[in-house]
Amino acid sequence: MRLLVALGGNAIKQAHEEGTPEEQFANCKTTTTLMAEIVSRMSEKDRLIITHGNGPQAGNLLVQQDVGKDHVPPQTMDIVGAMTQGQIGYMLQQTLLNFLKDRGLKVPVAAVVNQVLVNEDDPEFFGDAASKPVGNFLTEEEAKQLQREHPEYIVKKVKPKGERAWRRTVPSPDPIANIGSEGIKRMVDAGIIVIASGGGGIPVVLDENGHYKGVEAVIDKDLAGERLAEVVNADVFLILTDVEKAKLNFGKPNEEEVGAITLSEARKYLAGGHFLAGSMGPKVKACIRFLEWGGKKAIITSLDKAVEALKDKTGTRIIPG
Ligand code: ADP
Ligand code: MG
Repeated sequence: MRLLVALGGNAIKQAHEEGTPEEQFANCKTTTTLMAEIVSRMSEKDRLIITHGNGPQAGNLLVQQDVGKDHVPPQTMDIVGAMTQGQIGYMLQQTLLNFLKDRGLKVPVAAVVNQVLVNEDDPEFFGDAASKPVGNFLTEEEAKQLQREHPEYIVKKVKPKGERAWRRTVPSPDPIANIGSEGIKRMVDAGIIVIASGGGGIPVVLDENGHYKGVEAVIDKDLAGERLAEVVNADVFLILTDVEKAKLNFGKPNEEEVGAITLSEARKYLAGGHFLAGSMGPKVKACIRFLEWGGKKAIITSLDKAVEALKDKTGTRIIPG
């Protein structure tokens, strides 16, 4: 069995935390203890592949670029993405290796920096279609100031109420392919636990010479994780977030948890607008793509329910049909 796990934001930083190294290492430990437990139940032929988000870390790093710009040149968003792949890859790799060591398991762990191809013509790059908010929440005054300093930015009101309701918003194009996928596949085949496509991957487009070029965008990590699942031939795609199950009529009095469902039911619920864009929507969409490609099972659940969900006891489980 080949298992690809996509770790949500809370696997590395809890919403109420600031993101100190201590906090982040503590969360990584909780996450990788679990990964080590999963590995300890695996047979020699089984494989674990890990991907993760980077929203809070990239947000903090972008603030550092801005605050430090009079001392050191600010780096572009693609480079910030690469930096967070290294940062989070390191923390997950170290804590996972330590837990594997404690269990006497000698499985190598590698974190790779990798790019994900997007289409220059993706609708997210045009007009003010960009949908992914990044960086700090701003007041209306601060938003206007940022817009004056950077006329090329898209600054949007992202909350209906509140004083700090504005944020810089960047395109979130659909991932097409994982670049360097052959290398990742060979590592996985060789028995290495690979951490890849972090933060949805570094977004790149092809220039007029057919060369890769970084762009200012943020790819959804669940949709990019699904592309990675295809590359490594995953059987099971496990998305770990902060809710045990996806819900129908989310937030309404008739809210209802989704347990085991078929692909066609998942398609119907997604089309019915039950899952919000930018959070649960892309997760369910990623699961649907995975099963359409030929995956056997896609699961959405919380970090602490991962093992139970793999045993079919909880979580939203989507199977072909
Ligand atoms: P992650 O960092 O794990 O990707 P997200 O915040 O992007 O986390 O997605 C998880 C969130 O999706 C939940 O905390 C919940 O607020 C939201 N959500 C949106 N629609 C639904 C739904 N239909 N059922 C459950 N949660 C939903
Ligand atoms: Mg998310």
